[in-house]
Amino acid sequence: MNSVESCRRAGEMLARAEAVVVLTGAGISTESGIPDFRSPGGLWDRYDPTKLTFDRFCASAETRRDYWRLATETYPLLTRAEPNPAHLAVAAIEASGRLLKLVTQNIDGLHQRAGNSEQRTVEIHGSSLKAHCIDCGRPHDRAELHRRLLAGEIAVPECEACGGRVKPSTISFGQAMPEKETAEAFDAARDCDLMIVVGSSLQVYPAAALPDEAVRSGASLVIVNREPTPKDENATVIVRGSAAETMSLILKHAGDISAGFKAAADPMLR
Ligand code: NAD
Ligand code: ZN
Repeated sequence: MNSVESCRRAGEMLARAEAVVVLTGAGISTESGIPDFRSPGGLWDRYDPTKLTFDRFCASAETRRDYWRLATETYPLLTRAEPNPAHLAVAAIEASGRLLKLVTQNIDGLHQRAGNSEQRTVEIHGSSLKAHCIDCGRPHDRAELHRRLLAGEIAVPECEACGGRVKPSTISFGQAMPEKETAEAFDAARDCDLMIVVGSSLQVYPAAALPDEAVRSGASLVIVNREPTPKDENATVIVRGSAAETMSLILKHAGDISAGFKAAADPMLR
């Protein structure tokens, strides 16, 4: 099936679905200028993630300094980025009333900026726009920390309440998944009738198990990704290509079938 035909089929499935779960990965944000991990030129070509694990962050002041140096380098990239048509398409699915949950592995906050609500959005790998103390749990203002780090006032933030270790609120390698968000994501996978995966290599667990859970519970599965994924064999429809282009096309086809959908999608994708 070519990509135009697969977008048409995915659009039909979307128009007929009643409870959609969208699962997104770093690939939905590359067209907003944020590199993913695994594509050539991605972050893994430039940084060694095995050096920045959660255990090392906790144990070593040197790792905390390296971590914050990298975080300070990448933060402006996230705050400057704008949502692209793929994010807007996901927001339109919520506006149409069909979105059960948006489960994102991304930490960039672009879905919320595109219009998805906090109630429907589950950030299973946390958010880079927030920070907190890993010793006492106190939230810290990430924008303010960034300003102080850039100004050279601090090299590593410390918690003023307990003197503890402050970390961006993302889930690092080796760090436990957030229990509430993980449970919400798996509940939604079990309860949806359609799951659309956009821009994920589906190699990172437990997120990569969500499509299996959805299919096991009877849902259809659409996978939108530039490259093959290990879950392609479970997909009802596979769409290869740019997330921004194909998600816009999928939405257009859904709008051709469902007037309610068209009303939700048109203002977003104009
Ligand atoms: P990944 O890097 O493992 O995979 C991204 C996938 O998207 C790849 O298979 C690639 O072929 C595909 N892709 C890239 N650009 C695309 C495009 N424009 N259109 C269609 N497909 C495209 O990402 P992942 O599965 O999300 O897992 C990596 C982890 O990295 C996640 O846990 C996430 O937390 C983190 N991460 C997040 C961001 C972000 O927030 N934007 C960026 C980098 C990494
Ligand atoms: Zn503290």
